[in-house]
Amino acid sequence: MEFPIIIIQIFIIETKPIMFNFDNTYAKLPERFYSRGNPDVSNDPQLIYFNNDLAGELGIQVDSKDTAQIEEYFSGARLIKGSQPLSQAYAGHQFGNWSPQLGDGRACLLGEVIGTNGQRRDIQLKGSGATPWSRNGDGKYALGPAIREYLVSEAMCALGVSTTRSLALVTTGETVFREVPRPGAVLTRIAASHIRVGTFQYFYARRDNEALEILTDYALNRHYPGDHSEPNNALALLKNVVCNQASLIASWLGFGFIHGVMNTDNMAISGETIDFGPCAFMDVFDPQKVFSSIDVNGRYAWGNQPAMAQWNLARFAETLLPMIDADENTAMRLADDAVNAFSDQFNDQYLSTFGKKLGFSKPGSSTEELVDKTLRLLAENQIDFTLFFRQLNESNGDDPGKILKSMFKQEDQLQNWYKDWKKSLNLQGISTVSATTTMEHANPVYIPRNHTIEKIIDSAWTGDFDQFREFQEVLSRPYNFNRNFVAYESPPLDEEIVAATFCGT
Ligand code: AMP
Ligand code: MG
Repeated sequence: MEFPIIIIQIFIIETKPIMFNFDNTYAKLPERFYSRGNPDVSNDPQLIYFNNDLAGELGIQVDSKDTAQIEEYFSGARLIKGSQPLSQAYAGHQFGNWSPQLGDGRACLLGEVIGTNGQRRDIQLKGSGATPWSRNGDGKYALGPAIREYLVSEAMCALGVSTTRSLALVTTGETVFREVPRPGAVLTRIAASHIRVGTFQYFYARRDNEALEILTDYALNRHYPGDHSEPNNALALLKNVVCNQASLIASWLGFGFIHGVMNTDNMAISGETIDFGPCAFMDVFDPQKVFSSIDVNGRYAWGNQPAMAQWNLARFAETLLPMIDADENTAMRLADDAVNAFSDQFNDQYLSTFGKKLGFSKPGSSTEELVDKTLRLLAENQIDFTLFFRQLNESNGDDPGKILKSMFKQEDQLQNWYKDWKKSLNLQGISTVSATTTMEHANPVYIPRNHTIEKIIDSAWTGDFDQFREFQEVLSRPYNFNRNFVAYESPPLDEEIVAATFCGT
């Protein structure tokens, strides 16, 4: 008996691989700038969130429904074509103490892409395993701090603050051990570059002048191209970095943001906010506020951030001295002037930021005094920083209104301040409508409040990411009131207040 031959055709549906237009330049720098090595392969990657909008901006071609593929690529299990994985060398002052060798102990730079706006950006996996720079660390990222970094970095961007971005968040299926066992995660970080003050310090400490020159030219060309206003690249770079840091720190202050670990290895040459460790937005205004449990002396308190930025910039300037001028004294004088310029630049930005928060599109002669008075009022009365300014947008009469009044125990202090504020606006001929318009673009309704982040992290332990996704959505339009999201506006109840953020990230 003959059996009919049945031909079974199996169609294998080929998924289109993710396409990045890699154009890697850091990997072409001398080998002593980094060490090459691939990310670890996660055994059970699960996608938590993929930032489609950002992927679009970066010109990445990806099928957002193909979760399995995204999980493989953004956990490090599969290498994207054209990537040249490496971990960068850097050093740094941590809480003022010198560490001659840090480096990417838990991050892997895949390469650079040119986005649709023409900007070159780094694609980095954070938490992708140990590297030669890991020292005793495991090279991993716990899910909790990865969630915090995702939410806060994306919120900063929506608020209009210069910052690194988050493209993807994937859990790895591994357990990492901090104070307690936690799920491991990989966060794909996007940055203008990952060059830090500490990158310069690394070569400075090794008296590697050749590397310093290469790095200076590279950084200037990458971040501040076409600046030929100074006699040399080192001075041009220094002045640009000082200027960008001055406006960055002013914008942090304007949102009540406390970075928490402003070490020189966490200060980016691009002027972006980088490394969201024990960072937080404060609720009640207190200029001495810190969240980091290790910052016992308040080195990186809200109000200390400008001074600390300037300290870091002085460390940066040191590394550039021989390139600034062959004569040591001249080099010192030029560098000093450049770093000292931070104070005025910061003050201008600070007054402009807080002026806008009070309705002045440009600061006037009385703005500084008014800003000081405002902050004293908030501190003395322990007022929620974000809510106060937000409620100011709403008040348009001669009276502060019910909500603002309810925030104060001593209403007369508010009333007095309110009269002064109105008087200042009048003196500058600013109408209520115009002040409100200015304030609406300066005073957000939604910020990533610490207690909400903590709640979201707590739900993540049970595999619930719904609130993470919702909060991400809320934070993407921080200035627009949405009646469905009223809960995200509120300061914490007493029992919800988070006193400190961890240091074990
Ligand atoms: P950070 O506090 O995240 O700015 O990190 C400071 C330094 O410690 C950097 O060199 C990091 O690469 C390194 N580091 C932090 N966490 C880990 C970890 N889990 N494993 C290895 N290195 C780490
Ligand atoms: Mg760091």
